[in-house]
Parts: sequence; structure tokens; C-alpha cells
Amino acid sequence: MRYISTRGTAPVIGFRDATLTGLASDGGLYLPEAWPTMSAEAIAGLAGLSYAETAVRVMLPFVGDDLSEDALRDLCEAAYGRFSHAAVTPLVQLSHDQWLLELFHGPTLAFKDVALQLLGLFFERFLTGTDKHLTIVGATSGDTGSAAIDAVANRAGVDIFMLHPAGRVSEVQRRQMTTVSAPNVHNIAIDGDFDTAQALVKAMFNDRAMADRFSLSAVNSINWARLMAQVVYYFYAAVRLGAPERTVAFSVPTGNFGDVFAGYVAARMGLPIARLIVATNVNDILHRALSAGDYSKGRVEQTATPSMDIQVSSNFERLLFDIGGRDGAALASQMRGFEGSGAMRLTNAQSGGHAGLLTSARIDADAMAGAMHWAHDAAGQCIDPHTAIALAAARTTAGDVPMVTLATAHPAKFPDAVERAIGLRPSLPARVGDLFEREERFVTLPATFEAVSGYIAERAVPSA
Ligand SMILES: *Cc1c(COP(=O)(O)O)cnc(C)c1O
Repeated sequence: MRYISTRGTAPVIGFRDATLTGLASDGGLYLPEAWPTMSAEAIAGLAGLSYAETAVRVMLPFVGDDLSEDALRDLCEAAYGRFSHAAVTPLVQLSHDQWLLELFHGPTLAFKDVALQLLGLFFERFLTGTDKHLTIVGATSGDTGSAAIDAVANRAGVDIFMLHPAGRVSEVQRRQMTTVSAPNVHNIAIDGDFDTAQALVKAMFNDRAMADRFSLSAVNSINWARLMAQVVYYFYAAVRLGAPERTVAFSVPTGNFGDVFAGYVAARMGLPIARLIVATNVNDILHRALSAGDYSKGRVEQTATPSMDIQVSSNFERLLFDIGGRDGAALASQMRGFEGSGAMRLTNAQSGGHAGLLTSARIDADAMAGAMHWAHDAAGQCIDPHTAIALAAARTTAGDVPMVTLATAHPAKFPDAVERAIGLRPSLPARVGDLFEREERFVTLPATFEAVSGYIAERAVPSA
């Protein structure tokens, strides 16, 4: 399997390099040269398989010759063996046609574990036996940092430096990062807000000397392997609800467009998906783009769903490329225009190209709270605010096919918002119960390039 950039000029690479590289050298994002397909028979053959075995069947065509089937199976069993539910991503029925797909049974209680647990193992596998060493540098407002740290803690060949804004992440989120005692994990609290931390990380990637000396790498959702791992649970859920004979719809709480793009990939591979609902909060750039062709940045409003408070959705570029005719040169100039002005119109091909598969909805705080109430009253389920955004969107759509809402976080990650909405305070699951007793380890640094890059340069391992 060969991977090409959405902007057309970066080198064509294989799976291993696509996994180890973040952004392509032309500023684009990597994706497969062609979508592998699964026949109805092959999809029917997934019935009854474990999550890990489903993952092997769905991902094998993307991996090409870079991993044998047995090696891929070992990694999937290791990654998904760390989940607290034997089904890994269990389905929960809410009403006769509404379901939740619980994606939060991983170590840090958010769906990002599903992909990052596997990505950490891919990194280790591809670096072992080489003289290459990766230095992952990232900024987090909460969920990504803890999932990434858990995924690479104690993995050979990798160090991770994670910046978080001091005093501006929740205590659970901070402790999930700072109580990991592995020697390759480095937590840095920055005296500043998230945007400042993010800007410092960007400056380090733009410092070519530093980026090359330490092989700086990213773990955000522009990484192809992360998206690939997320395709699996669409198959796993749909098959349990009757695919390939029956079609299924999904509603996805969307921020950076990674999770819902994985659903789009599943559809392109042949999974009969009737509809994918792109559910946004009041930061609705994707809703405006999909419903009216208007992709223009607004100001970010802080909401109870911080993982969806975005201005620009990186992975949307992958969709625009695929449905717009896969013209890298045209997309590169369109994206340059957007980067300059903060606004662009979708082309006719981009607006029409998803042929009714993608719909969108903008859900405000009242509708979100209403969905949390309904889940609790109708089905006894306490759901997190992100999940509630998608459930509210799901409930506005007619119930002709089973509708699956992706439940992306455990409600105990957002106890204040849940309590405000339904008057109940969810408690942390027992397996993270000693989080508040464990010792924390982090440094606080001023928000300057010199302070942070100096700290990293003293501790990171130069790549060979
Ligand atoms: C990251 C995240 C999202 C958004 O997912 P994208 O792939 O960025 O669209 C939604 N909910 C939760 C809880 C998240 O952590």
C-alpha cells in the first residue's frame, strides 16, 4: 500500500513511513493511494470475531508489507488487551433504534486510547532494531496528552514531551499525565494558555535544526495510523447490528474531523453506512461547510465540550481531497488561500461528492443537556457532554435504520458539566481509583521558546 499527500508533491511513501511522519513535506496529509475494499462476504465473515481479530482483518490491507499478519495480530492483541471491557468497544441500546458505541474503556477513559494504544506499539515496533529515536512533542488541553502519554510510556526508541497550560486542565486530566512515572515521559506545565503552548510546539517543529536533530514527531490526529485504527470500530459495531444485510447510521461528535473521517473510510471500503452525522457544538465551521459550502473561521467559543472547541479541522482536508477529485495541485492552492484569508468556498465537487452520506448538525448547550437528560431518563445511561452533542443530533434524524452514537469519553472525565445537566456526579471507575494518591511529576516553565526548547534539548536523545 502506497501513501500520497493531499497536496500532491511530497514523496509517495509506505505504511511504516506514513506512521512515523506527521505532516507531509508539502504541508499536506498522507492517505492511501486507493481505498482497499471489503466484499459483502468478507464483511459477513467478521460476525462473531473478537475486536482484535476484526482489527486485523480491517487494517491488514493498509499495512502492506510493513508488518506480517501475525505481527499485526500481536500488536492488536496487546493494545486491546489493555481495555477494561472484553468487547473493547461495547454497544449499549438506548431505545428501539438508538445505540451508544462506548469508546472509552481504554486506560485514560477517552476514545483517543483506541488509536493511540496501537500507535505507541507501531512506533516501538518500527524503531526497534534501527538506530532511529523519536522525540514526540505536543501540546494538550487535556484528553490527547493523557492518551498519548499512556500509549508511549516505557516504549523503546521514543521520548514524549507534553506541554499543558498550567492550572488550565482539570485535575483528573493533569493527574492522568503527571502520575505516569516512566523515564521517557516528560510533562511540562507552561505559564500561559493552550494556544501559547501550541504555538511553542509549532515553533519547535519549524526550527529545522531542532526538528532534524531530534526527529521531532507528532501524535495528533493528522497521523494516518490513528485514523486507520478508528475505522475498525465502525465495522465492529455495524456487523453486530446486522451489516452487511442491514445498513447502519452513525452520529459522531466532531472536532478535528478524525473520528468521522474514519467512518467515511469505512463507507469507502464497502461498509453499508446509510448516514454519517457530523455533530458540532456552537463552534460550527464544519456544519456551515457541509450544509452551505462555507468553510470560514470564527472565534472559538469555550463550551462544556472542550475537545470540539476548534477553529480549523485538520482532517477535513483529507475529505476535500478525496471527494473533490483527488487533485493535489488544486487543493494545495485552495488551502493556501484559506491559510491566508481564513475562509474558502467548497467547490461543487466537494459539496456534492459525498452523495448524501455526510449530514451535519449544530447542537447548542440546551440541546446537549436535553440529550443527557433523555439518555438518563429513557435508558438509565449517564453520558458525557461530547457524546450528548452527537446523541442530540442523532435524535433529530428519522429512525429508519439503527442509529449509533459514538460515546467518546467517560462521563467522569467531565463531572461538573454532567452534574450541571442532570444533577448527578459520575464517579471515576475503580481502575483509576488511586489517581489521587499517586505522586505527580512535572516541571513548570515560562512560555518562551528558549526555556522550552532548552529543556527538551538537554533531555531528548538525538536521532542517529
Ligand atoms: C478528540 C475528541 C473528540 C473529537 O474527535 P475528532 O477526531 O477530533 O473529531 C470528541 N470527543 C472527545 C471526548 C474527544 O476527546
